[in-house]
Amino acid sequence: MASNPTNLHFVLFPLMAQGHMIPMVDMARMLAQRGAMVTIITTPVNAARFRSVVDRASKADLKIQILELQLALAEVGLPEGCENFDLLPSSAHAVNMILAMNLLEEPAENMLKVLSPPPSCIISDGCFPWTNDVAKRLNIPRVVFYGPGCFAFLCVHIVTSTNILEEINSDSEYFVMPDLPDQIEVTKPQASTWGRGDTKESTEVFERMLVAEKDAIGIVVNSFEELEPKYVKELAKAKDKKVWCVGPVSLCNKSLQDRAERGNKAAINAQDCLKWLDTKEFGSVIYICLGSLSYASTEQAIELGLGLESSNMPYLWFIRHPSEEFEEWLSKEGYEERIEGRGLVVRGWAPQILILSHQAVGGFVTHCGWNSTLEGISAGIPMVTWPQFGEQFLNERFITNVLRIGVRIGMEVPVLFNKLDESKEIVKRDNIKEAIKSLMKNDEEGEARRKRSKVFAAMAKSAIEEGGSSQCNMTLMIQAITEELAKNTTPIQDIV
Ligand code: UDP
Repeated sequence: MASNPTNLHFVLFPLMAQGHMIPMVDMARMLAQRGAMVTIITTPVNAARFRSVVDRASKADLKIQILELQLALAEVGLPEGCENFDLLPSSAHAVNMILAMNLLEEPAENMLKVLSPPPSCIISDGCFPWTNDVAKRLNIPRVVFYGPGCFAFLCVHIVTSTNILEEINSDSEYFVMPDLPDQIEVTKPQASTWGRGDTKESTEVFERMLVAEKDAIGIVVNSFEELEPKYVKELAKAKDKKVWCVGPVSLCNKSLQDRAERGNKAAINAQDCLKWLDTKEFGSVIYICLGSLSYASTEQAIELGLGLESSNMPYLWFIRHPSEEFEEWLSKEGYEERIEGRGLVVRGWAPQILILSHQAVGGFVTHCGWNSTLEGISAGIPMVTWPQFGEQFLNERFITNVLRIGVRIGMEVPVLFNKLDESKEIVKRDNIKEAIKSLMKNDEEGEARRKRSKVFAAMAKSAIEEGGSSQCNMTLMIQAITEELAKNTTPIQDIV
């Protein structure tokens, strides 16, 4: 097999969560742009979300397709159509979802056996350890993909491979994360991101993930080397694996349509959104979006609304699943009329990268999901950091302490995703207003933050251009796969 990607057929298994599917679909198109054939395997509801982007790519002569598999939802007690983490009735159902995903092993293997041309490489989410067993049985090299960047991934590795958390007795005490190139302080709950979890199922999956990761020929990451050079190196050393940073993958979305329809149908028409932004001054607008899984309680949504209003800045606020009570509050207050012209509230999916790349946007209030973080960085926009769960608190430290391009809103305690958590810490309107004002200030600190953000954005752009580090890493990954295939004496064709 020559080192020519046009001979390769990549099969991608993205985890059914937007923060994992979106970058994988971008990566699929980047591989197809190299001339490789790419098959994305997912479920019907998820396939429908990406159908238009994949159709556009096929029309542009990229060899890319989506194949569908059904999740056995009824078997694990999940309602019909509940095929993505953002559709789960609550975070307590995540474990059922994991069980349903595990049941894909056999149908996925059967699908791969008859795929033509036969697959030459599997790129699958770390949360699908069973793809490693399938890859081994069919003699296909596997590359593993995880959501976060190298900094957070290294932190997760440190806390899951040492006893550091067991030595911390208090949940509010800050400790220094050991063995990191920078001095990073977190609390125990903030550092307890993914890992063994507290159920038998989650522990089993995590242990299986570690075994599967050992067998993978390398780890592909949505990041770029210039952003976190020390962490890329340290992660490769800690994992004893090749780490290929090929991002920011969001920058492969060049056309207006691709930027406006990424991951889901947007709740606002792209032209209307651009028209609204066009009326605002350069760098003046705050964009607020807390990702695909976060949930704001009525009380929190009201505080946010009032905080934004009192900041006196123009703002574009996307809110996922507003509660009925919040809608009642909005109308009773006449909130939207009151802020008309300056602020806009949109319920539902944001065309995020379209918005971030508009010159009127000057600040991003983010929940610090890794994709949003990297998208903010790529657009050169400083951020107000409002982490919620998972590795988001680690990403916050990366934004504020390592890159120094953010202002903390002051969130301390992680919450469960997708859940109205009554005990949830409420961030008050004054803190929201202060964080935004501080971010947008034209003082020396604010200017320095803006300048640093622009430098990282320029680096991101170069990384993804021809000859850039991420393009070179993509080539190295393809070479490694080709070398692995050359060692293979029994290819899949001879097994099935
Ligand atoms: N996203 C979007 N519109 C939304 C919410 C999210 O386009 O209204 C995209 C966002 O651009 C990012 C992904 O969904 O690519 C969310 O991933 P992230 O890692 O930021 O957070 P998660 O949703 O996984 O918590």
